[in-house]
Amino acid sequence: MTTFFHCPDYVTVGPFDFDIRHSTYREIRKETDEWGSFRPEELEIHIPKEAPEQLRLEVLLHELEHAICFCASLSDDSTEEDYVTKGTTWRLKMLIDNPDLLLMLLQRSVLAGSIKPTEISEFGDILSAEFQND
Ligand SMILES: [Zn+2]
Repeated sequence: MTTFFHCPDYVTVGPFDFDIRHSTYREIRKETDEWGSFRPEELEIHIPKEAPEQLRLEVLLHELEHAICFCASLSDDSTEEDYVTKGTTWRLKMLIDNPDLLLMLLQRSVLAGSIKPTEISEFGDILSAEFQND
C-alpha cells in the first residue's frame, strides 16, 4: 500500500484534538455506510486504510467538515449561509492551527503537478527572511 502522504496523527478543530485513525472498511462500516467516520464522543476520525490515497484525503477532509459542523453547532436544519458563515471561521482556525494538514495538502499539490517542490522551498525562504527581521 502506498503511504498516505504525511497524514497528521491528530487535527485540532476548535478546542478539540481529533485523533486520525486508519481503520479498515469493516471497522468503519460497523457504525455507518460511509467511507469514514467522525466520532466526537471519542475525539476520533476514522479513514479507510485500504482506500487509494486520493480517496483517503477526501474522506479525511469530509470528516473534518463534520468536526467543524460539530464545533460550530451546525445541524441538518442549518442553512447553506449558516454553513458558510460559521464554517468558515472554524475552517480558517483549523487551517491556521494545523500546519501538518497544510503540508499534507502541499504534498498533494506537488503530486498533482500544481506546484513544484522548489516553489515551496522558495516560499519557506521568504517566510524565514520575513520573520528573522522582526
Ligand atoms: Zn459524512
